[in-house]
Amino acid sequence: MGKALIIGCGGVASVTIHKCCQNSDVFSEIMIASRTKSKCDALKAKLDGGKTIIHTAQVNADNVDELIALISDFKPTIVINLALPYQDLTIMDACLATKTNYMDTANYEPLDTAKFEYKWQWDYRQRFEEAGIMALLGSGFDPGVTSVFAAYAQKHYFDEIHYLDILDANAGDHGYPFATNFNPEINIREITANGSYWENGDWVETEPLEIKRVYYFPQIGNKDMYLLHHEELESLALNLKGIKRIRFFMTFGQNYLTHLKCLENVGMTSITPIEYNGMQIVPLQFLKAVLPDPASLGPRTKGKTNIGCIFKGIKDGKEKTYYVYNVCDHEECYKEVESQAISYTTGVPAMIGAMLIMNGTWNKAGVHNIEEFNPDPFMDALNKWGLPWIEDFDPQMVD
Ligand code: NDP
Repeated sequence: MGKALIIGCGGVASVTIHKCCQNSDVFSEIMIASRTKSKCDALKAKLDGGKTIIHTAQVNADNVDELIALISDFKPTIVINLALPYQDLTIMDACLATKTNYMDTANYEPLDTAKFEYKWQWDYRQRFEEAGIMALLGSGFDPGVTSVFAAYAQKHYFDEIHYLDILDANAGDHGYPFATNFNPEINIREITANGSYWENGDWVETEPLEIKRVYYFPQIGNKDMYLLHHEELESLALNLKGIKRIRFFMTFGQNYLTHLKCLENVGMTSITPIEYNGMQIVPLQFLKAVLPDPASLGPRTKGKTNIGCIFKGIKDGKEKTYYVYNVCDHEECYKEVESQAISYTTGVPAMIGAMLIMNGTWNKAGVHNIEEFNPDPFMDALNKWGLPWIEDFDPQMVD
């Protein structure tokens, strides 16, 4: 029984808020605070009437003083950051000032550089430890569930994991020629950046989308997968014993890639401001404004996602392979919480991570990545709260 402050009211936050309301024994009172208060009020109107008491507020999460005032007034056990990666540090600063636990789903990214890494948030470790509060980093699906899968594999099935491929496949179809499944600005920054993977202690850099593989996925079939840099590679490289290589692959259809290439070629994905009609605009931010809002894709999207990990390593001196994944149906998600599966697969783990902090199951002062904790209660909660996982010890889908 406790209070949570949720910052942001977009696609992911909406799912987390629905799930918090389904779990009112833990989330007895929540505050939804975001830049556009009308979105918070609309969601409250939809969900009011259950056991969870819902409050709303307007906040600019770039402003530490505003955040401190809001947290001091509401006094939550945890702040769940579901705004954008640009706000991670200001929200962490406000949590430090008010001695409140923190959680997010994406690591900090400076607004003017398309570069994300953990160093900025890891710099808070000592201060969080001294304040006696906890920050849980990356409690979405990837990072999040895939990192918990890694901790689970390490705990139960391997003496050493040598190779890990994280495979994020989406066979959903929303019927638009081009749209992104989560915040377009964050999504396109990620995809147009150079790829990289971690091997034998070093980063190997690739051109954007240079490495392609075709994998066969249970329930969704063959998919084109492209290697991307992804934030969890950085922490898993430190936290998995004996690891030699970690790669991250995501599906993109040919139609999506053709549109993206065209937008890139004409300069629409650039984050460098340009002068237009006497004002400065960032082309990518303008593009975001004309693309479909990811939150609007829910009613149109059909098909399934399959996100999981393939591990190869050693157990009792013998080579072993283990594949664990979740399959999520876009239409089922929409029926339950009026969101498509990408927001669902991120929003549910955000609720679970927050729950484990709220009920004291995970309790360690400092700044921690999710794979540092006992994975078992999280894995149980995935089955209970809508993201059941499937294990395969002889997968036939390797590249
Ligand atoms: P949306 O753009 O749909 O939502 C972002 C929300 O944050 C909006 O409500 C927005 O307000 C609000 N916001 C933005 N800036 C501010 C600010 N300065 N102050 C207050 N509120 C602000 O994004 P998503 O829901 O798709 O994504 C949310 C987060 O989840 C992102 O960080 C994304 O990277 C992460 N993510 C993580 C994944 C994972 O698996 N780990 C997968 C997918 C996403 P407004 O309504 O006014 O725009």
